[in-house]
Amino acid sequence: ACEIAIIRRKVDWLLSPLRLSHSDLQRVQALMRQEMELGLGKETNARSSVCMLPTYVRATPDGTERGEFLALDLGGTNFRVLVVRVAEDSIRIASEIYIIPTSIVQGTGVADLMEQILPLGFTFSFPCQQLGLDKAVLLNWTKGFNASGCVGKDVVQLLRDAAQRKENFALNVVAVVNDTVGTMMSCGYEDPKCEIGLIVGTGTNACYMEEMRNVGTVEGNDGRMCINMEWGAFGDNGCLDHIFTTFDRLVDEKSINPGKQRFEKLISGMYLGEIVRYILLAMVEKQVLFHGKPCTKLQTKDIFKTRFLSTIEIDGLGLRKVLAILRDLDLHATFEDSVLVREVCQTVSLRAAQLCAAGMAAVVEKMRENRGLDQLVVTVGVDGTLYKMHPHFSQNLQQTLQVLAPKCTVTFLQSEDGSGKGAALVAAVACREA
Ligand code: ADP
Repeated sequence: ACEIAIIRRKVDWLLSPLRLSHSDLQRVQALMRQEMELGLGKETNARSSVCMLPTYVRATPDGTERGEFLALDLGGTNFRVLVVRVAEDSIRIASEIYIIPTSIVQGTGVADLMEQILPLGFTFSFPCQQLGLDKAVLLNWTKGFNASGCVGKDVVQLLRDAAQRKENFALNVVAVVNDTVGTMMSCGYEDPKCEIGLIVGTGTNACYMEEMRNVGTVEGNDGRMCINMEWGAFGDNGCLDHIFTTFDRLVDEKSINPGKQRFEKLISGMYLGEIVRYILLAMVEKQVLFHGKPCTKLQTKDIFKTRFLSTIEIDGLGLRKVLAILRDLDLHATFEDSVLVREVCQTVSLRAAQLCAAGMAAVVEKMRENRGLDQLVVTVGVDGTLYKMHPHFSQNLQQTLQVLAPKCTVTFLQSEDGSGKGAALVAAVACREA
């Protein structure tokens, strides 16, 4: 019994920095709000860790959009080319003409399968300084991407040049769209209240409809514009340092972009497994797991997958299944070990959902104040495998958001193929207005 108490104390000591109080979350919310304001200001933009990039998308769909569009999607796990048909009562993928893993995109002729010159929407899910709907200068790569010669260039022009050079034909690119915007737009087609887009997949990011009068970085004061927050970089200026744990610092140091995307590294699919792995290593070292036996395999980067968290945290999942996952990693775990591993996973995924909620609370509260409302009713279009597959993430997100932003009624709507459909819809709205 004494040994159990000692283990408990060590575990709590290791995990307590990851357990955020209500006031911790309120502080994160307030910081996000502050960074949003800085990011929107013409003079203050450079000081913010949240870029607040204008997207030149000024309206969500109104249902009158029609036609066939080509959608290119680069930035997720696969590179895809789709034909999307926007009709009176539906929007659907007419055909998926191309799909390859992004890891082999380079060197592959893409345009050869695109015979039809349809207006094209290009989903490009990296931070871009947009100068118009069809002009977007890449600021930096994220999520492990790193192709040379692209940063500082207009990605639409790079795409056009590549098509011209390799396949000798012209592309009719009418819009470049971030995946958050695509997600918001595709959900907006079904629900006009959808004015926010959220991604929790490999990375995390959000966009929302901001009042033009508050967007200091673009001329004009009328109406609204969708702002791509690039919130994954929240904290890159040091404002979240009080939240980071030893484990977060290790994940960051060993990543390919140290010091960058610090908020994302607390939340998204590319990193949660890694955080868990570092905690488990520390627990082994402190002799609370696996009898303190050194585990060579656990020292391998990315060996503990984020999808393991989803499996391990399923309610009522027999500990035998947890044991099986651990055994695959050559970890000879006891039942007590697997109970602890589950607790670690729960702690990490709960914190991720709560931090995401704190960010979202800042967004919905700003929208409510912008519109001078006592109550805001709004829908968030969401995409990303972590959000969709994790057994508790979405519930934890919604519950925390309700507590942090009680004056907002927020509905989450999962997007189906948001990047593809959304890009087509932005193209459609652009063609409608042209
Ligand atoms: P992208 O954001 O690149 O479009 P996804 O939304 O498919 O891609 O997210 C991929 C991420 O989701 C990966 O980082 C992976 O770790 C994570 N992931 C895959 N399966 C699961 C799962 N079952 N539960 C939680 N996360 C998962």
